[in-house]
Amino acid sequence: MTDTLRQQLIDTALAMNASGVNQGTSGNLSVRYEEGFLITPSGMDYTGLSPDDIVWVDFNGNSRGSRKPSSEWHFHAAIYQHHEEANAVLHAHPVSCTTLACLDKGIPAFHYMVSMAGGKDIRCADYATFGTRELSEAVLTALEGRKACLMSHHGMTCFDKDLPRALALAIEVEHLATVYGRILAIGEADILSDSEMSKVLEKFKSYGVQAQTK
Ligand SMILES: [Zn+2]
Repeated sequence: MTDTLRQQLIDTALAMNASGVNQGTSGNLSVRYEEGFLITPSGMDYTGLSPDDIVWVDFNGNSRGSRKPSSEWHFHAAIYQHHEEANAVLHAHPVSCTTLACLDKGIPAFHYMVSMAGGKDIRCADYATFGTRELSEAVLTALEGRKACLMSHHGMTCFDKDLPRALALAIEVEHLATVYGRILAIGEADILSDSEMSKVLEKFKSYGVQAQTK
């Protein structure tokens, strides 16, 4: 079980780089396992990673494995502890999300797909130094009622029920950030009303359910 999960983590990390959501070793990815989570190692290229390079970390930061866990294990732990529906956490510095985050901007409801992150907007977490408890707290605040957030002067973080869904969400959020950035370059964004976004969120609750019901 753990070897399959470790390999799935590596495969998703490689897919994350291939999708353009991540570059180099700046991102990190984890999956919930036992009373903690499996996470990509610190500063290692994903190409050539083997299941043994993946590190298991508990919610206090105690790790098991031959490698050092990603320096951002802190907010991964915080997300698993505060969002019981989270089984996979993805963090990266995608170009468009990071551009908006460096302007301290989140993503408003300029497009209905913003609701894919769970709410009527995607917030930008306050800045704090990477790898700190303060950053963890800022990320948790921005993720209240949401599955994705931008991070001021840093990047983006999201979580979902499993690794493929977390990657799909990251790709969608980066796409939304790209389009929003283009809109800002041309003019002002027209924002969908609160009541329309309530309607969309309601529809999203049943979206995708079809595949799972008989
Ligand atoms: Zn980062």
